[in-house]
Amino acid sequence: MSSVDAKLSPARDGGKPSIIERYRRYLPVTEKTCIISLQEGDTPLIRARNLERYLGSLKGTLSSPEVYLKYEGANPTGSFKDRGMTMAITKAVEEGTTGVICASTGNTSASAAAYAARASIPCFVVIPQGKIAMGKLAQAVMHGARVIAVRGNFDQALTIVREAAERLGLTLVNSLNPYRIDGQMSVAWEVVDALGAAPEFHFLPVGNAGNITAHWRGYNAYRSAGKIQARPRLMGFQAAGSAPIVLGHRVEDPQTIATAIRIGNPASWQSAVAARDESGGIIDKVTDDQIVEAYRLIASLEGVFAEPASAASVAGLIQTWLCGEPKLEGRIVCTLTGHGLKDPERAIASAVVPTEVDADFAAVAREIENRER
Ligand SMILES: *Cc1c(COP(=O)(O)O)cnc(C)c1O
Repeated sequence: MSSVDAKLSPARDGGKPSIIERYRRYLPVTEKTCIISLQEGDTPLIRARNLERYLGSLKGTLSSPEVYLKYEGANPTGSFKDRGMTMAITKAVEEGTTGVICASTGNTSASAAAYAARASIPCFVVIPQGKIAMGKLAQAVMHGARVIAVRGNFDQALTIVREAAERLGLTLVNSLNPYRIDGQMSVAWEVVDALGAAPEFHFLPVGNAGNITAHWRGYNAYRSAGKIQARPRLMGFQAAGSAPIVLGHRVEDPQTIATAIRIGNPASWQSAVAARDESGGIIDKVTDDQIVEAYRLIASLEGVFAEPASAASVAGLIQTWLCGEPKLEGRIVCTLTGHGLKDPERAIASAVVPTEVDADFAAVAREIENRER
């Protein structure tokens, strides 16, 4: 960032520049815009050499593509939703909103609640009862959002908040809000800025499909700006029990342990299909077993803890690698959309629980010797 840009940023209260400051020339803001930020973005892009070796071993070969993990769990509220929310809340405040509302599988509400708190505006969140991870609910509550749990699923919650926004004069901050997609484009820009070019393939989970839409628009914006020529093939993955785009029809009662992508009627369905087709990519499904396997692999092989929905990207990578079609080569990025600590119950349920022993050296030493080292 140039020093000129720095002088133009009204809301830079120290620390690293927000994505709106860094990428303002691609975003619908002016110099007068007061930026509501928690210093989101600039997340790690981690070369996954152990995962590469693992992929090779699956086929008994040493060669595998270069794999990078874009770790969105490192955002302020622990998911990529912050990239879109800084834009949505910034614009809502600029337009004089009286309050914001969203439906959420968890991370949207956590992010909306945090940014609304920072902007000192009311935030209402409507969640599917019993279907969101505890960590996410804890966040929304702590940030002072008014949380309403409906006896229904995400798709029903979204229908309700669309009507509520319209009739009660609140700003909708689901990804139907175009500013959300605008902000989320920044993930593609960061990947290109780090790699010096677009990757050959970009894998990511697909739920309401705003993020795959944003990834594609981000790469397109950089191409229009002359920053890249080639764009990646986008490889989107839904959970098998919640795979409307793959099936080509709505799923009335979507099921998956990956609650963040438990969506039966994606709001950005058409633009996701366009992103798939224009990029020459695919949107396919992976089972919950594959998701849990990938979830554990990323954590144990690379030291990167992402939530189950995020692991759908790596599960999709493994599946595509094994099936050999399309042929994976060059550089591959997997977006890991959210932090593993969001859903600790799932982690405990899918890992070996600690052994309990007496509080003396001999008992602990015996346990250490019993374990393979
Ligand atoms: C929101 C979310 C998704 C799905 O993103 P969409 O834009 O709805 O497709 C995936 N993973 C996590 C962790 C999320 O919070």
